Amino acid sequence: MNIDCHMHTPLCGHASGAPIEYAKFALSKGFDLITFTCHIPMEWEAFGQKGIRMQRDQLDDYIEMVNEAAEAMKPEGLEVLCGIEAEVFPDETQLLPMDEILNEYPWDFVLGSLHAHCYSYIDWLKKRKVKDDHLIADCYFRHLIDGAQSGRYDSMSHPDVIRTYGVVRDFIPEDHEEVIREFLQAVADQDICIEVNTSGLNKGAYQVHPDPLILDWASELGVKLTIGSDSHRPDSIGQHFDWIQPMLIKKGFKDLHYFRGRKRQRIDMPGADLKC
Ligand SMILES: [Zn+2]
Ligand SMILES: [Zn+2]
Repeated sequence: MNIDCHMHTPLCGHASGAPIEYAKFALSKGFDLITFTCHIPMEWEAFGQKGIRMQRDQLDDYIEMVNEAAEAMKPEGLEVLCGIEAEVFPDETQLLPMDEILNEYPWDFVLGSLHAHCYSYIDWLKKRKVKDDHLIADCYFRHLIDGAQSGRYDSMSHPDVIRTYGVVRDFIPEDHEEVIREFLQAVADQDICIEVNTSGLNKGAYQVHPDPLILDWASELGVKLTIGSDSHRPDSIGQHFDWIQPMLIKKGFKDLHYFRGRKRQRIDMPGADLKC
């Protein structure tokens, strides 16, 4: 069984292709299940508004578009689920309107992302005078630990996205081993997942999120995985899965997970049988 559990829709303003186009592409590549996870609306504009995320009054359109794709694909044998990419943030009061959205709609899957390059987080660090790169990266993982323990999220997405967009100059996982292991342990204790996000491989010289070394530690600690291409256009569904999944097998991961109605489902780790 082949799955991809992270993709967007044009409602966010920086993705192209209707959900049905994503679904058709997924079907043509041999996928059995895909989950849409567009960016959740946030009230405070420091999280980015136009061009980053849909507005709150577009949520019904989002769900309708995904449901239409699901209906059209059912006879073809592709299951289409509707999730959301929610935000992780240290100031809980900023998350109250988001929590309403999480409770109000019947999501299949909730991703937890700390987009450290958003002004919301940059400003949080600045106000607390966190300037040093080492501290910023440690801080980021501490906030991911809080996120994992909050019970809000099913999977912590692109867990080392702190390495991208110039938030810190260099990110060397070994320099943060203690806090990263603490984060992975929190994920294991909560019995949620981390996401293997293959979009990082397209961002310059970066690696898969999380870094292969972090995946070694995750394997050691028995952390469960979801997988996502973070597609912002239909033809990047499943990008790099054909060699990342065999790498995960080598690292000792025997299974992958997806969520339907917020309930975790296990599948055998797929091999390299995709038509990518
Ligand atoms: Zn996006
Ligand atoms: Zn994201």
